[in-house]
Amino acid sequence: MTDCFAESGFYWRPLGGNNIDQISGHCYQYTDIISKKSGLAATTIIVDLGKFDNHQALGIKNSTAAVPDIRNLLKTPFLNPRALFLTHSHPDHLNGIVHYLKAGFLMPPLYGGKYTKMILDDLYATFKVPEYMRPDFICIKDGDRIKIGSLEIEAIAASHTCFDSFGFIIKSKKAVVYHTGDMKIDSSTYFRKPTNLKKIKTYADKITHVVADFCGITEDGFAVREADTFKKMAKIIRKSRKDKIFIPVYPTHPEMYLIAFLAALKTKKNVIFYGSDNFYGYLELIKNYGISFEKMAKNRIKVFEGKPQKITEAGKSFVVIGDYNDIGTFFGDSPKNSIGIITAKTFFNPLKGQFNSRNIKFVTVQDIPELQGYGHGFIGDYEYLNNLLKKPIFVPTHCPCYIVEGCRQLMQYLGFNMIETTPQNNQLYKFEYEKCSLITGEPATWLVVNYSGSSATFNEVWQKPTSGEGFLKRTFSARRCRNKFNMMLLMRQKRG
Ligand SMILES: [Zn+2]
Repeated sequence: MTDCFAESGFYWRPLGGNNIDQISGHCYQYTDIISKKSGLAATTIIVDLGKFDNHQALGIKNSTAAVPDIRNLLKTPFLNPRALFLTHSHPDHLNGIVHYLKAGFLMPPLYGGKYTKMILDDLYATFKVPEYMRPDFICIKDGDRIKIGSLEIEAIAASHTCFDSFGFIIKSKKAVVYHTGDMKIDSSTYFRKPTNLKKIKTYADKITHVVADFCGITEDGFAVREADTFKKMAKIIRKSRKDKIFIPVYPTHPEMYLIAFLAALKTKKNVIFYGSDNFYGYLELIKNYGISFEKMAKNRIKVFEGKPQKITEAGKSFVVIGDYNDIGTFFGDSPKNSIGIITAKTFFNPLKGQFNSRNIKFVTVQDIPELQGYGHGFIGDYEYLNNLLKKPIFVPTHCPCYIVEGCRQLMQYLGFNMIETTPQNNQLYKFEYEKCSLITGEPATWLVVNYSGSSATFNEVWQKPTSGEGFLKRTFSARRCRNKFNMMLLMRQKRG
């Protein structure tokens, strides 16, 4: 494994996140090799260590999760990671850590935001990771610079759907990488720091590569702005003239708890938080983070939590913010006076049935795309970034390989300097000024996690297409994807 690192240079390897046809289990290795009088010296850092959502498709019975394979790095002293940088708190970027610890591996010190630490502590408690096994956690803020060996890493705030999301500018002698993390350009925000464009601009001449979150690349224009989601939601509530509003939100996205709450406040409706245990768990974390809904309400509206009997205290006119557990009888007795506002595609199916069976009117993201809080940049976001910088090489991540292949022609027309080969997990690249070369491409493996008692074991499984059981094949086939990019290209060409 060290053979490929026998030459000085700055290397990048996706270990998860550049999957054939899935988008989870993110993990990226950066290794800087410099020559010293005493020989070659290596500095390795990892960015993110998530879990692969569709572990069942890997075919190991009774599995709990699957994680990227970083065992070689942990076992090879020369390449030992000196730090693990965390972009944000979502499971596909964070949850690998606990499984490695439960399997008996030692982790390097972690660098991440305050909210990321809160979510990680919650995971430690859930998986009963004893205090002494937990790696050091260094809390970082926007603008922090951290020196690790021959690298300097600067934290850049990122607009995403949870608190304390970061991208990183990773500086080596050979190349300067902007690793975006999950982000969009949107600077309208009610609860967090937006993407630090000012800072990115100061690096315009220096950034040579953008390791970019291409999760939203199939959509044209800019990603939906938070302000637009808020305005749309308030408008629907007002125009509906209904008294009882149900707004389901996605629990891992604090953004939507806040936007739904603010829309209720704007339309002067009392709020009841009502959902599953998972929903309340995240609500608790949001409050512990320092968000006070009572304070925001300033006595203009009442805020309730949990118990259905609270409904009588909530009066005639209220908004229920929850998730997709049963909506109960909140609406049942007078469906005519109710409306549901579905804020994420994944909630559509279970709720549609409930609303239909109760004769409750509802609107969905399908009809009103602004309703979905969206944490990933669209093509427009990356055009903006490309214009801000000086033609860096774009290295896509967080996107199935077939989608990256599908967008190449369009991206070229739009003036992007895309990496020539589509990066796949476990390929090794060397980043140099204006260059990005593929060094090796060994087949990637996932480690499927099984628990017996309190300890985890790993089963190695080759990466293979698994979307037959995932959601991507159904929602976004390779053919549909190609057609969509072709349409966008045609429209752009027409516009000139
Ligand atoms: Zn995310």
